[in-house]
Amino acid sequence: MDKKKIVDRATDELMSLAELKEDLYFKKIPDDRVKYYIDESIKIGQEAARDMLNTFQGKNVIEICEENKIRLDKPDEEYDFEIVRLRGKYDSDINSIILYDLSIKKVESALSDSKVGLKLSYDEIKEIQIAHELYHYLEDKEIGATYDKLEDIRVFLTKRYPVMKCSDIAAHIFCKELLKLSYHPKILDYLYLVGTGYANPMFLENYINELEIISK
Ligand SMILES: [Zn+2]
Repeated sequence: MDKKKIVDRATDELMSLAELKEDLYFKKIPDDRVKYYIDESIKIGQEAARDMLNTFQGKNVIEICEENKIRLDKPDEEYDFEIVRLRGKYDSDINSIILYDLSIKKVESALSDSKVGLKLSYDEIKEIQIAHELYHYLEDKEIGATYDKLEDIRVFLTKRYPVMKCSDIAAHIFCKELLKLSYHPKILDYLYLVGTGYANPMFLENYINELEIISK
């Protein structure tokens, strides 16, 4: 596998599509509306990042959290058995970002595998996680949920539901813009699977090929 190429091929559009595909109702989205959910979510995330960069010029994510009185906490307990692991979570009730230390360390160690081709330090992975959760904070306290700004989809004849994953599409882009990352942060989930041996590099390449086909 050409490692550099995988990270470059994992464009914002493809990784957003990958996120959208994880939505409970993805199959209910008409083919010609997929692009609408991706494009609009990306726009909302980008705008929020620009606003935040303007408001907090020169501040890092930890300082931004401090200014917004957002606590950085650890979970009460952290288990070691899940394959795809939670790295962070925003808790609205206590205005706190919970960081799963063990998971972050596992990602760091997975990325140090030579098969992966993107090395990040513990602090860099932590920053990415904080930036992502910071977007969920904004949704909760300032701008409203991304999926509420977009059209609901018809699931049954009379029932319509929001496309919840739009929030994460926007959160990833927000994180990417805020930290000026050269890669889409969702790729970390896949590189983690490769680095830990849960998936082989060929699987990832095939998955990107598949996303490219769907997005055409
Ligand atoms: Zn999220």
